[in-house]
Amino acid sequence: MAGGGSPTLVVGNWKMNLDRGRARALAGTVAAAAVCRGPVQVMVAPAHPHLVLVAECLAGTPVGLAAQDLHWEAGGAFTGAVSAGMLADAGASHVLVGHSERRLLFGDDDRVVALKIQAAVDAGLTPIVCVGETAVQRDAGEALAVVARQWEAARSATGWSGAAAPLLAYEPVWAIGTGRVARPAQAAEVHAHLRALAGAGARILYGGSVTPDNAGDLMAEAEVDGLLVGGASLSPDSFLAVVEAAADRRRA
Ligand code: PEP
Repeated sequence: MAGGGSPTLVVGNWKMNLDRGRARALAGTVAAAAVCRGPVQVMVAPAHPHLVLVAECLAGTPVGLAAQDLHWEAGGAFTGAVSAGMLADAGASHVLVGHSERRLLFGDDDRVVALKIQAAVDAGLTPIVCVGETAVQRDAGEALAVVARQWEAARSATGWSGAAAPLLAYEPVWAIGTGRVARPAQAAEVHAHLRALAGAGARILYGGSVTPDNAGDLMAEAEVDGLLVGGASLSPDSFLAVVEAAADRRRA
């Protein structure tokens, strides 16, 4: 485990999926099963309308709650937006920032990502800072430079050096929702590069087409401190199998 001795973290990103009933059922099943997952810290990230409901399901269990996005302003005339304070009030302890779907579909550039990180930190939330290169960038040999730029923009804009050890997720864009997972060695190379920039205590998750079949091999890399799981987190069977594979690697 490279991330300063912290437990392995497995986060389920539910994205814009699940109705109330399914969110409640999934959270309940994960909470009941995750109690005995030992070396793995489990967290789920439901859509905003389900945060309070899921927080109630998770109360008293070791499963954590993350939000998927936030606005950087504390409040005011920002129709449709949700502030960091609101997320904390709803029960979230973490928030994804800079997910590639936000960067690509909603225009979250490095400046916006930095503003969101700062707002999260100010509200007492831990940002999970997502970085990753596109297929074109990787093919051009730019993967390390791209994630370095994304990280440096986030850090320099927020003065994060004074805060607790950062939590990052390396999510190659070409691997998200595509079924094309990074090879463990590819992930490890980028994680090592990010760790050199973000500090030895940084926790760095891998995300991108993680499944029960590939989770163990990814977690076998000492550089990989945990997993950010999208599609496979929507079924309790596959998500818990990912958690179990991660736990097995940490026990080995
Ligand atoms: C994600 O969106 O964070 C993600 C990793 O998705 P998937 O696992 O579906 O590739």
